[in-house]
Amino acid sequence: INILAIESSCDETSASVISDGKILNNIVATQSVHEKYGGVVPELASRAHQQHLIPVVSEALLSSGLKAEDLSAVAVTRGPGLMGSLMVGLSFAKSYAYALGIPLIDVNHMQAHILAHYIDDPKPAFPFICLTVSGGHTQLVLVKSHLDMEVIGETLDDAVGEAFDKTAKLLGLPYPGGPMVDKLAAEGNPLAYTFPLSEMPGLNYSFSGIKTAVLYFLRDQLKNNEDFIKDNLADICASVQYTLIKMLMQKLKRATREHRISQVAIAGGVSANSGLRKELNSLAADLGWKVFIPKFEYCTDNAAMIAMAAHYKFLEGDFCGLDISPIAKMKI
Ligand code: ATP
Ligand code: MG
Ligand code: FE
Repeated sequence: INILAIESSCDETSASVISDGKILNNIVATQSVHEKYGGVVPELASRAHQQHLIPVVSEALLSSGLKAEDLSAVAVTRGPGLMGSLMVGLSFAKSYAYALGIPLIDVNHMQAHILAHYIDDPKPAFPFICLTVSGGHTQLVLVKSHLDMEVIGETLDDAVGEAFDKTAKLLGLPYPGGPMVDKLAAEGNPLAYTFPLSEMPGLNYSFSGIKTAVLYFLRDQLKNNEDFIKDNLADICASVQYTLIKMLMQKLKRATREHRISQVAIAGGVSANSGLRKELNSLAADLGWKVFIPKFEYCTDNAAMIAMAAHYKFLEGDFCGLDISPIAKMKI
């Protein structure tokens, strides 16, 4: 079984080839046009996907050593994501599958973030709990099998990745700010400043409050010292990151207790965060969790995870028609 997978949900154009469950490559073209706007501009993202898609697919095919005729199926992200961006990937995938006369497989991007754990060993056994933390989502997912997943908690407003990116923006750091906050936080004191922990009912999260708290905090401090940010950058980053991680871990701990599960995974772009990884490993030691952390290249958006999900769908014979549309708010 050889599958070509395409990912174009946000601002990464990516293609990957998987052969009998083994990822052969993962080609990612990151769009730099958004940097000067401090966030992803949907219209520009769609255009950049149009530009990058064929070269990325060609490179993936070439480096796989396979020919188009060797492919058994084409897989593509159907959602969630930006409508225009999804449309580019889906239209291409449909046409390609149609031209080759092979089936199309539609993949849910959030399921795929979790299935990134099945690319390499060690692979989590079922059931496990996955904390998916990305630019658009923050979810606690009960993973019962490769394709059977249940969201047991999620953010009621902003995603944690957004909280990282918005904090970075307030600090004058370039987009995407998450990785910069992470780097600066490593040299700062996490207890230098305190920000409120917002408590939502059940296993749900809220990350919009901290963004406002940081905004007011900085405004007050800058009144007394116009160099406040410059002088205390690492401490501010460390303190905000500490608060965000604390909120994430509170509900994760509760989820593992309520569901009596001690296998825990993280997925999505924010799972690249070194503070989060460190905290998870230390909780694992304290609470006897078995923890799974994806490789960096499989944390942020990539087609390898789409290919992995497609592999499992192929085994189930789960194909889709060529008349499907993208679903911007697709649920797991
Ligand atoms: P979604 O998957 O919800 O549709 P997305 O695809 O845009 O959203 P990802 O590409 O999975 O999200 O993740 C991007 C997010 O991850 C950004 O908010 C970015 O700042 C954040 N991020 C990446 N690396 C780090 C890091 N080291 N620390 C904190 N945040 C990070
Ligand atoms: Mg991205
Ligand atoms: Fe993503």
